[in-house]
Amino acid sequence: MANVRVAVRVRPLSARERQDGGRIIVDMDDKQVRIRNMKVDRRVDAHVDARERLLEFTFDFCYWSLDPEGPRHASQEEIFQDLGVSVLSAAEEGYNVCLFAYGQTGSGKTYTMMGTPDSMGLTPRICQGLFRDLEPEGQSCRVEISFLEIYNERVRDLLRTADHKKPTPLKVREHPDTGPYVQGLSQHLVSDYRQAVVLLEKGIANRITAATHVHDGSSRSHAIFSIQYTQASLENGLPSEISSKINLVDLAGSERADPNFCRDRITEGANINKSLVTLGIVISALAQNSQMFSSCQSINSVTSEGEGSFAGSQSSSLSGGGRRHCFIPYRDSVLTWLLKDSLGGNSKTIMIATISPSCGSYSETASTLRYAGHAR
Ligand code: ADP
Ligand code: MG
Repeated sequence: MANVRVAVRVRPLSARERQDGGRIIVDMDDKQVRIRNMKVDRRVDAHVDARERLLEFTFDFCYWSLDPEGPRHASQEEIFQDLGVSVLSAAEEGYNVCLFAYGQTGSGKTYTMMGTPDSMGLTPRICQGLFRDLEPEGQSCRVEISFLEIYNERVRDLLRTADHKKPTPLKVREHPDTGPYVQGLSQHLVSDYRQAVVLLEKGIANRITAATHVHDGSSRSHAIFSIQYTQASLENGLPSEISSKINLVDLAGSERADPNFCRDRITEGANINKSLVTLGIVISALAQNSQMFSSCQSINSVTSEGEGSFAGSQSSSLSGGGRRHCFIPYRDSVLTWLLKDSLGGNSKTIMIATISPSCGSYSETASTLRYAGHAR
């Protein structure tokens, strides 16, 4: 599995979008997504080049979840088979893994990561798969779960029932050997799938409560469900341990903060943006570094700066052996700092960009696909 992989998923039209005319601007085949800008189309403008009307992107996976009855439909199970199973096998091999959903509010991030009562998403399926894989082997292993929320660059434990009106934010620290961690975050040892799902549901409920009491919308917070997975075995008669971490992240909505909002809202929007922009820079720098690494290996020379990339301006530092590497600004936001040990280095990252099919979301969809495109 490549170090960074990117998928895109388009959801069905919502009732509201259908009422507004329900014009669909997205099309997909195996690895390509195309979106059409209807507004440009209708303007009958001789100066508009045909290419401007159509944007095309290539990803590792494209999921058409637009018409549940249609032949192209990708179900929750199919997405788990492609992405969830590779998360599990990478973790079993000892990699840290980070899987996250990115997209505007209402585009299907929570549906994809968590699911609904009748349609399980990736997180519960991954928990189920983890314990299913463990049982037949009878291996000795530990599974510990934590669940947190980042709102306004502050961390809150979603598994600790605190006073919602006065939550104390937790501090992020960095251990010289084990990396970044949240001081005082509760860790929960679980021994079966049911216990994991109880924690997941508790955290989701807590996030919704906070959205009413502490802040005003779960769409503005990032939620990270972490599974610390430790396998113990005997190697040549000596006990050894393989340890890996799976971070499953439901990101805040990617839409830009409305500049007309009051000051509080602007701070909030700016912080969310800061985390999302930093995440974009980090992932894009990682993608660039890995490309450079492979081209350095094959042609033994320094490659270009990756024109138009988020990381373009950051990629001028030189590291050992004359190989040019991007500086990776993990500590610029709480989100990327916490995900540091499961982004880059010896870890695997999967991004799922979720989009609406509707004409009214053209500019948000275009911006989501550009963001996702920078990750490859
Ligand atoms: P987000 O978390 O990005 O704000 P949600 O996951 O809450 O968006 O999705 C918005 C609505 O669309 C929900 O009612 C959800 O059930 C529905 N939905 C999203 N994606 C899909 C999909 N692939 N198939 C069916 N319904 C979906
Ligand atoms: Mg959501």
